[in-house]
Amino acid sequence: MQRALDILRTTFGYDQFRPAQAAIIQQLAEGGDALVLMPTGGGKSLCYQIPALLRPGVGVVVSPLIALMQDQVTALRQNGVRAACLNSTLSPREAQEVEQALAAGELDLLYLAPERLLVERTLQLLMRAPLALFAIDEAHCVSQWGHDFRPEYVQLSVLPERFPQVPRIALTATADRRTRDEIVERLALQEAEQFVTGFDRPNIRYRIVEAHNARQQLLDFIRREHPGEAGIVYCLSRRKVEETAAWLVEQGIPALPYHAGMPGTQRAMHQERFLRDEGRVMVATVAFGMGIDKPDVRFVAHLNLPKSIEAYYQETGRGGRDGLPADAWMAYSLQDVLTLRKMINDSEGDIGHKRLEGHKLDAMLALCEVADCRRQHLLGYFTDAPHEPCGNCDNCLEPPERWDATTAAQKALSTVYRSGQRYGVSYLTDILLGKANERIVQQGHDRLSTFGIGDELNASQWRDLFRQLVALGYLQVDVEGYGGLRLTAQCRPLLKGETSLELRRPRSAKERRRERKEQTVKGGFSDPTEQALWQALRDARLRLARELEIPPYVIFHDATLMAMVQHRPATREEMAAISGVGATKLERYGETFLAVIAQWQGG
Ligand code: ADP
Ligand code: ZN
Repeated sequence: MQRALDILRTTFGYDQFRPAQAAIIQQLAEGGDALVLMPTGGGKSLCYQIPALLRPGVGVVVSPLIALMQDQVTALRQNGVRAACLNSTLSPREAQEVEQALAAGELDLLYLAPERLLVERTLQLLMRAPLALFAIDEAHCVSQWGHDFRPEYVQLSVLPERFPQVPRIALTATADRRTRDEIVERLALQEAEQFVTGFDRPNIRYRIVEAHNARQQLLDFIRREHPGEAGIVYCLSRRKVEETAAWLVEQGIPALPYHAGMPGTQRAMHQERFLRDEGRVMVATVAFGMGIDKPDVRFVAHLNLPKSIEAYYQETGRGGRDGLPADAWMAYSLQDVLTLRKMINDSEGDIGHKRLEGHKLDAMLALCEVADCRRQHLLGYFTDAPHEPCGNCDNCLEPPERWDATTAAQKALSTVYRSGQRYGVSYLTDILLGKANERIVQQGHDRLSTFGIGDELNASQWRDLFRQLVALGYLQVDVEGYGGLRLTAQCRPLLKGETSLELRRPRSAKERRRERKEQTVKGGFSDPTEQALWQALRDARLRLARELEIPPYVIFHDATLMAMVQHRPATREEMAAISGVGATKLERYGETFLAVIAQWQGG
């Protein structure tokens, strides 16, 4: 293991292994199999990259993400690792060169798409080369239930038959038990040791707000907290992606759209720009993100409610892979709930499947409405291990006020009941506020006993209350018809006055305005001289990246530049001690960055 540590330090420039990495590397180095479940950003790549370097022969990495292979290879080469990929984007000549290098034993790591690997010719090629290991990345793609199912993954079970001596490691960030069991079974990993690390991402700050004008709220959030930084904004529909991206650009935010309906070339171009430029905001449907290992995504925003906690956790997990603080911010509204319920209802699955999806959505809604630690709630959803309140979510940082909503809820529920359980929120709110508009008069609803009894709340507060009642299961949305609300059995005790209801109090418009003013703009260093050096280092990195046509983070991560600002290395030795500066990068870039620091020290 001393050799593994040496490789970590000299090749990758890191000081220490993260929890579990050392054990996994040892398992593989000794020829055993492993199944690794680690959250995004946990450091899965080193778990197979280092054993591949330790063992004789080439490490073969199976990945479904052809578009991203080249970047992974580039990043490895920057560290002096002999890496290559074989996929459909290579010209026949390039492919031939890679094959020759493979046969000559000149490769440490080879990335392959599963369909390429499974071709008999490739298998033959691999039979002739000494192999260090097989790494199966994004292993949940083997699961039919997951949303990323790839049929070719199932056929990877040929690997132990054809290469019984070669150790295998399967990796995924998907936590749930069923997927894990399926991976074991389909990839024949019964003998593999399982490494399941904690799923917490402590550097991600979770925040969920009520949407009032979601787009504007998003813009305020970006301007206030992440100016000039990279982020992802998730929307439910393609149209909303397009509109939001265009609007953000108008507002001066460098945003790009991404969804499955765009031409492939344009999609690839936008992805490329997101990876290579700094401070781009990608507005996307969930089609975007798997395998994007851009480390410096500083925020993930949701303008719509995700379908499940699994999806929410996976998407927000794309922020802060470099371990620096990142925000998971979401604005959601009752409309989202209606839309998703309708989508589930209209989907093709059978009743059982729809019911399952419905439960998943309920769990997601419950997360939105909890008044205590969001992280506790999230982690509790995946595991049973108890967790302290985190101190890094909105509810921990600013505990929401609670109020006794019993009377208001009774008024709302009986209005639903008395008007015949078929109207939507605005209509019901109008009754409560005593608006004798044409439709209400026509229906005779101005004579209901609840007409005009609700002036303790304003329209927006009633809307919040209705949303909470839906989220908490008191009201059900009629998905067959026009989205009218119906009572559920759960209402009975509340209506009869046998139970009370305490809710988190939504912030009023005035409070929200005040908060907006009070929060100061952050980003970067508070000391202006440090900020200037930080900027100078980033500029140098961007210049180099443009010259070399690679993404800036492949040169150095933000965390590495920040360490330079803090320690201000003046010699090569001092530079080598900075986390993220390995021997090869020191050789290539050391002088450039030392010069920036020296110039700035002198000036
Ligand atoms: P995953 O594949 O699990 O999402 P990665 O392998 O991309 O995560 O690693 C996430 C980030 O953490 C990368 O930027 C990687 O360089 C960094 N990292 C991994 N292991 C270590 C370590 N032992 N020390 C410091 N940084 C590390
Ligand atoms: Zn918390």
